[in-house]
Amino acid sequence: MNLEGFDFFENDENLKQRIESLYSQNRQPHAIVIEGAVEQRCEKLATFLTMRAVCRAENKPCGKCEQCIKAREQAHPDIYYAQPEKKSQIYSIEQMRSIIENASIRPNEADIKIFVFRSAEKRLTPVVQNSFLKLLEEPPQNCLFLLLCQNSRGLLNTVLSRCTVIKIKGEPNFYEDSLDLAVEVAEGTIAPSEWQLLAALSQFSDRKKADETLAILTEIFRDCIAVVNGIDTIMNKQLAEKLSKRITTGMALQLVEVTELARRKIPQNVNMELLSAFLCGEYRRIIWQR
Ligand SMILES: [Zn+2]
Repeated sequence: MNLEGFDFFENDENLKQRIESLYSQNRQPHAIVIEGAVEQRCEKLATFLTMRAVCRAENKPCGKCEQCIKAREQAHPDIYYAQPEKKSQIYSIEQMRSIIENASIRPNEADIKIFVFRSAEKRLTPVVQNSFLKLLEEPPQNCLFLLLCQNSRGLLNTVLSRCTVIKIKGEPNFYEDSLDLAVEVAEGTIAPSEWQLLAALSQFSDRKKADETLAILTEIFRDCIAVVNGIDTIMNKQLAEKLSKRITTGMALQLVEVTELARRKIPQNVNMELLSAFLCGEYRRIIWQR
């Protein structure tokens, strides 16, 4: 197994050992739950596992072959990322049915088919999990199911007991900080004076923290749409209810767009002060029409 160049293993010796033992003696787990407080870390491990599963090199994943590259870019025809319903943000029973059907069809390019479910404990309702159970009890040959979640206790025990669980050290304090800051920014956007929003955004000097804060903010703004439509929220329902008194669905969509745009600028070495000023201006313009 090739763990070189996958920097997320570097400060997590436990995780490294866990992955190595998981694949020792050529064992091939068919269902893995990846649990971690930080979504991006779960996502990175999922990408690593998909690359490892499709790579054709001796030392997997090589990171260089066509199969690895397609997996990394999430463009591999045998790797399916389940897409939640637009409105409800859940994986529908129809989608699960088509996945079950699909799982029995031979892969296109690789020797395996992989199905990835993000936010599994929030987006797979118990009914859908039950229909998924049949697949886990008698897994089709050469299939791998990856369930990403922040808290595996949200999954049914019957599902969980049929999966291999990998826990990722969460940097929980780091996540909590970003969460607090995201809430502060969100509340700042609806405050009558600009001052509160500026104060929150001025804490964006650390790129990593800003990146995670913006990722959480996107979910908070999406929740405003969910709560108006009577759908379960991903983050804090009370906050979403408070925000949605001021923020309409149209505004929330624009807020998500601007937040994602700002987030994409972080790795491009944007000046963080300018980014904060940009966000402040855009948020105020969208919500307060100024
Ligand atoms: Zn490869």
